[in-house]
Order: sequence, then structure tokens, then C-alpha cells
Amino acid sequence: MKQERIRNFSIIAHIDHGKSTLADRMLEYTDTLTKREMQDQYLDNMELERERGITIKLQSVTMNYTAQDGLGYFLNVIDTPGHVDFNYEVSRSLQACEGVLLVIDACQGIEAQTLANIYLAVEQDLEIIPVINKIDLPNADVDKVKRELEEIVGIDGDEAILASAKDGTGITEVLESIVQRIPPPEGRDDEHLKALIFDSYYDTYRGVITYLKVVSGSLTSNMKIEMMQTGKKFDVSEVGILNPTPKKVDALTAGDVGFMAASIKDVKDSRVGDTITSADKPAPEPLPGYKQVKPMVYCGLFPTEGEDYEDLRDALDKLQLNDSSLVYEQENSVALGFGFRCGFLGLLHMEIIQERLEREYNITLVTTAPNVVYRVKKVDEEEIIDVENPTYLPPRNEIEAIYEPMVRANFMVPQDYIGPVMELCQEKRGIYETMEYLDSLRVMLKYKLPLSEIVYDFFDLLKSRTRGYASFDYELLGYEEAKLVKVDILVNKEPVDALSFIVHEDKAYYKGRQLADKLREMLPRQMFDIPVQAAIGNKVIARETVKALKKNVLAKCYGGDVTRKRKLLEKQKEGKQRMKQIGKVDIPQEAFMAVLSID
Ligand code: GDP
Ligand code: MG
Repeated sequence: MKQERIRNFSIIAHIDHGKSTLADRMLEYTDTLTKREMQDQYLDNMELERERGITIKLQSVTMNYTAQDGLGYFLNVIDTPGHVDFNYEVSRSLQACEGVLLVIDACQGIEAQTLANIYLAVEQDLEIIPVINKIDLPNADVDKVKRELEEIVGIDGDEAILASAKDGTGITEVLESIVQRIPPPEGRDDEHLKALIFDSYYDTYRGVITYLKVVSGSLTSNMKIEMMQTGKKFDVSEVGILNPTPKKVDALTAGDVGFMAASIKDVKDSRVGDTITSADKPAPEPLPGYKQVKPMVYCGLFPTEGEDYEDLRDALDKLQLNDSSLVYEQENSVALGFGFRCGFLGLLHMEIIQERLEREYNITLVTTAPNVVYRVKKVDEEEIIDVENPTYLPPRNEIEAIYEPMVRANFMVPQDYIGPVMELCQEKRGIYETMEYLDSLRVMLKYKLPLSEIVYDFFDLLKSRTRGYASFDYELLGYEEAKLVKVDILVNKEPVDALSFIVHEDKAYYKGRQLADKLREMLPRQMFDIPVQAAIGNKVIARETVKALKKNVLAKCYGGDVTRKRKLLEKQKEGKQRMKQIGKVDIPQEAFMAVLSID
């Protein structure tokens, strides 16, 4: 039976621990790619991904492997993104697997970001094969990693395979243990068709290509299928596997991982987590665990040149074809003109989209500071509204309560840095939950934190205050009431809507003053004085003045000193200075991000 010979697995690894290198080595050892065909790091093929060293898009590859028992096996490796922004996609791709390789850098050990994914794998009862990688390095500490496996994950350290993806050590052992330790998929061919979608992308010629695992039944070309969440029906035109290039097959049967084309025009009709069934003989219920992902972070994107507005719309349309988690709608800002309010899964997702718009579509953008989605209960109204844009927060007297999203953050910290991490969490309105010793040197700290406090520069702060030794990840907890207010900014007496921000009452004065001060430094001087004010409602809470140029002063009138090294800010300073004229005053792009640089 073919199914007995299938192994579906993912590779979990912290960034840079060697996932791509190991995958490459396996492709090579199974002759899926000859050395000549082999381009470095086949699995991450987007330029941006490679630069950032993260995996964004999922792909699956089938390898044919003749094991030491003399039998041929189909090894399907399903790639997972390595970042919390894409956690839901990770959980769906793990659902398509029976096991995982857990790759750990022998010098670095287990990191908090990886833990979230390990726990997902444990929850789903997947077989976990630990691979301790980079043992060729002189400072590799295999025993320490083994202890961590036992103490943190609860796996016998002696089960770990010692490997060097770089020089090929342990690769055969990895392949053999996939065959021996990971169980074949269950599910039967003669049941109703149920196939799990774990990725999809848009191809200009063939429409949407759906990546899926057939859990039961079989999927053949020319059959009519139904998407169980949306109820939409399509005619399948092609099914196949990636080996690593696409190869058509007649049918994908229970346990198989592969792709399908069915003249689907929109990735929204091929949603990650949805179940594909037969339109003629539909399954009684879908696979469990579907959920629609919701954007967590919003910002405004405006073309620097007004006439690029249509191009920006086209570009967003195209990007969305491939990314159903990207949402946007038209926004009209008094200050910035026509643009789009865009929603993202997280900050990384936001940066990726902004960068692609600029690089691949050549549109220069003015972007506003990101914010989370707040919920507001208005006085005398039952309904609770979502506020995605600070500009649209109702006036204070109409608000009964404001709610903000909260997260639970898990930190892995060497004990010397517990103090700085606690201090940082305190500054960010964190609520201490628990502390647990993982081994004699490291603790796991748990805090409840407002999402808004960690979307800006939290990660950078954590790294710098712990010299890179602490790692963290977070999960969403839901909404809680908080005392929040909107701070408006007026430049030359005119409110600049795109500079408004929502902040906790206790920090409003401080932030208002800081931002006014920052803007004073950033705004180019004119022949007249420019007042910069921060206000809550009608009440001015801070005022600064950009002094008029004196005669004979030829000095740079542009000297904004942005101290924070936040990448976002850095990027905005590159290239030509982008300005937006508000009344008589030019406001540079970096001003719209200035709120990010306030501690
Ligand atoms: P990923 O982010 O998990 O996909 O990690 P990569 O596969 O891109 O590897 C990160 C870096 O570690 C690259 O510079 C690799 O060349 C290097 N690397 C990967 N495996 C090994 C190994 O076994 N030994 C050594 N010395 N370096 C490795
Ligand atoms: Mg990689």
C-alpha cells in the first residue's frame, strides 16, 4: 500500500538555526535536486525572505527516498513560516503533518519563539524528532541542548540526532528516522473527500494554486469540488505534487500532500484551514480548527505623489491576490489626501507589504504609525464598534468604555537579565503572571501586556536591554477595558489627522510633549514661526515652536535627529526626502512615524 510509504512532516526551527540548509541537504541526498540544479536554499525563494532570513510563504516538496530497508518512501516536507505573525498558518501546516523535525542550533539552544511552535506540535500529538544542528562549530554544546530538551520540552535528549547541515553529518540518520519514527498518515481512500488547505497562491496563468493534504477520500482532476467554509464550487483542472517542480498526477489520495488548480480567481476562495470536499458527495462535516484570520495592526499608506493613487490600488489588489490576510480600504486623510487604510497580521507582515510596494511596484509611500484595533462602547448604545483608525475614535463624551487587545508574553531569560525584562514590562503596562526556573540559569517569565505596547519597538528594546539573550513570543488573550485617550497634533494651528494617536491616559501628557518636541526638530524651518501643539479634545497639553529662519542663515534647515534605531524609521529616511504639504508647512515622512520613537 502506498499510504504506508508516505511521511508528512514539517521543520520547526528558530531563525538561523539551519532549517533551510537542512532542507537543502535532504533534497540533495534524496536526489530530488541534483547538485547542479541546486540553488542555495531552495525553499525560501522570495528575495525579501532571503534578505530577512525568515520564511513567509509555505511550500511543500515531495522527496522520493529509498530507505535502508530497501523500500521507496514519499517524504513530504511542508514548510512553515517562522514568525508569530503567521502563527495560524503554522498551526494549519502542522495539522497536515504526522511529525516534525525540531532543529536546534547547538550553540544557541531552544528559544522562546520556537517554543510556541513546539507546543503546537505537542498539542497536535505529532512525533517530534529533535535535530541538534551545527555540531561542527567549536562552541557547540550538545549536552546543554539535550538538557534543555528534557527540561523544557519533555523529550529524552538522547533521542536527538546530532547533525551538521553544513557538512552533511547526520543527514542520512535524519532521513532514516523520518521513515522509522514518524507514522504514516491515517485516513482512507474510500471515505468522503476531505482535504485541508494549508497554503494558496495566485498564478497569473492558472489562477489560484491550492496546497493541500488529502485527509480522506481522493481528489482527481476533472472532479467538481466544494469549499466547505464558503460553499463555493469549482471544477478541478489539475492535481499534482512538487518534486520539486510541479508534476501532474491523476489523483491525490488519502495521506497525499500536493497542489490543485481549479480556475479559482481569488485566494479568498481558497482559504488556509478550509476543507475541500466533493460537490457531488460532500462530507458531512469539515475538518476541525478553521478560523478566519483577522488583521491585528493597521496603518495608513499614502502615495507621495497624488497621481500614484491608482497605481497603489492596483498594487494592493495584486498583493492581495496572494495574501488573503492583507486587507485595505480607501482612506481620505485631510493631511495626506487619498490613500488606503491597511490591516496586517503583525508588524513584520506590515513591513513586508510596505517594502514590496516600494520595491516591486515602485511606489513611494508615506506611511502612518501603526496602531492596533480598539473596541468602543458608546454611551446609550448597545453595539460595540471596532476602531481601526485613531482619527475615527468618537469624541470623549460619547464614549462609555474603550477596550484594547491584550496578549500573554512568554519570555525566556537568563537569570542575570530578569530585572531588566521586568522593568521593561512594567514600563509597558505589563501585569506580572508567573516565573518558573527552566534550568539552573534560565527562567520563563509570563506577563500580560497590551498589544499596543509591544507592536512598536518592544522587540528591539528587549534585545538591547538583555544583550540579545532574552527571547519572547506572545499569544492573543482578548480585549480588556483601559483608560485610553486620543491625542491630536496641530501644526501651524491645523490638526494633522494622520498624526493622531491613541494612548493610555497616564502616558498622554508625556507622549504629547515628546512628540511635539520631536516634530519641532523634524519640521523644516520656514520664514515664519510654526507652532506645534498636542491636544486632548480642546485642551492643549503641549506646545513647541519651530523658529523662523533668520536672515543669512544658510544652515541646513533639516536636522531631525532620530535616535531610535527602529528599522521603520531608518527606512523612511532613505532615498529622497518625502514631504507632504499641510497648509503652508512641509511635513517630512519621518514625522508620521515620530510617535514610534518615543519611549
Ligand atoms: P534558517 O533561518 O533556519 O532557514 O537557517 P539557514 O539554513 O538559513 O542557516 C542560517 C545560517 O547558519 C546560514 O549562514 C547557514 O550557512 C548556517 N548553517 C546552517 N547549518 C549549519 C551547520 O550545520 N553548521 C554551520 N557551521 N553553519 C550552519
Ligand atoms: Mg530559512
